[in-house]
Amino acid sequence: MQNWDLKTILAKLDKGEISSTELVQYYLDRIKKTDVKLNSFISLRPKEEILKEAKEADKQRASGKVRKLTGVPIGLKDNFLAEGTRTTAASKVLDNFVAPYDATAVARLKNEGAIIIGKLNMDAWAHGSSGENSDYGPTRNPWHLDYTPGGSSSGPATAIAADLVPIATGTDTGGSIRLPAAFTGVVGIKPTYGRVSRYGTVAMASSTDSIGHFSKTVWDNAYILSITAGHDKYDATTSKVEVPPYHELLDKLDPKDLKVGIVKEFFDENIIDSVVLAKTEQAIKELEKKGATIKTVSIKNIERGLELYYILMSAEVASNLARYDGIRYGNDRTYFGQEAKRRIMLGTYVLSDVIPGKGLETTYAKVAMARGYLQQEFKKAFKEVDVLLTPVSPTLPFKLGSKTGDPLQMYMSDLLTVTFSIVGVPGLVVPIGTATNKENVKLPVGIQIIGPNFSETLLYQVGKLLEKPEILNEINLT
Ligand code: GLN
Repeated sequence: MQNWDLKTILAKLDKGEISSTELVQYYLDRIKKTDVKLNSFISLRPKEEILKEAKEADKQRASGKVRKLTGVPIGLKDNFLAEGTRTTAASKVLDNFVAPYDATAVARLKNEGAIIIGKLNMDAWAHGSSGENSDYGPTRNPWHLDYTPGGSSSGPATAIAADLVPIATGTDTGGSIRLPAAFTGVVGIKPTYGRVSRYGTVAMASSTDSIGHFSKTVWDNAYILSITAGHDKYDATTSKVEVPPYHELLDKLDPKDLKVGIVKEFFDENIIDSVVLAKTEQAIKELEKKGATIKTVSIKNIERGLELYYILMSAEVASNLARYDGIRYGNDRTYFGQEAKRRIMLGTYVLSDVIPGKGLETTYAKVAMARGYLQQEFKKAFKEVDVLLTPVSPTLPFKLGSKTGDPLQMYMSDLLTVTFSIVGVPGLVVPIGTATNKENVKLPVGIQIIGPNFSETLLYQVGKLLEKPEILNEINLT
């Protein structure tokens, strides 16, 4: 059973070669054996409940009632509300909070028959790039336990790479799906802002919060997004743009029709480690061999996105976290950790800069204008090319503890993901191989594919040409 992707699982369930009960038992055993080391789950649902649902799923299958995910185990990042589950967002503020209803994405997965195994670790409130801001301890990278799996979705990415669940949900506000996907060698999508409903997820920065998924392959990811995406009456920012059957369209792209843009500003030896750069260039060459046209493009001021993001995000974080005032749910505000406090203070400062008569001179207004400017720059770039390709992170996965003392260093890990978040465009990360660091540790490398709004079909098609899911077999978890 080890390392089966979702497509394989669905085929085996269909043919009766495996039951949902056996499948669930496999993952529960594996979690018991390995998660002591990895710490990817914060909470597991009661075993009896999980097994009962699996048995019920097996009965449904036997009677011919099959939905898209009947009997398929999934994991949820712990900032997704799922009725009756403890939902902490990895913060002690919500240590004993039990969700009273399902997030829309969760409801859609459950409606198709998915079985929730448990809630996955993350940086508290999704603030972070390494998982180390979790109040429940850091998650370890299954490629090497001394390394971070990336954040903030440290648990979901690790659970996929270590084969603890075949599918997991995540949130990406500035890179929280893409960075951990790259650091663990799995596939992760941050869809277009408004593609998947945010209803029932713990808000971080509402103007960039995006809901997405982790999987071992592009096909699996496309299949899941086709279930969760689409308009939701509970989230006014969700789009009515039609949701295509992404997984059925993967082979419909002729690489010869594809124009790929290489963002000049992000292919700089001064910013990106040479091993990461070399691996990315190799992947681009392979795409070129398949017939794609490669073109260098320049997106002016793209690197300034990091500053803009940290101002905008902090302002929105400060106002979103104001709701945790000890009334109705959760503990009081003394339970906030250091990183949340830092962002609340920074955000409050940004928002307090509103002086009557100052108008567009306020920090927030300036950032909002710069955001609009960047959106225009992207529109121009997408007139020249269909997609952009960039590395995901300036470095290979780094060691646990190596950046925790220096928040700015940690923020720098987000350089290549945050700009796309503030612009709102979708991004897909797929594994393209492995590289060895200076300490001779083998670690995965991912590539980021960016397209215009609602180009998820194209991103998956390009991802299919680039992905190397087989690298997951190189993980040696003893
Ligand atoms: N690493 C970024 C941050 O710390 C992004 C987090 C996220 O996408 N949730 O803000």
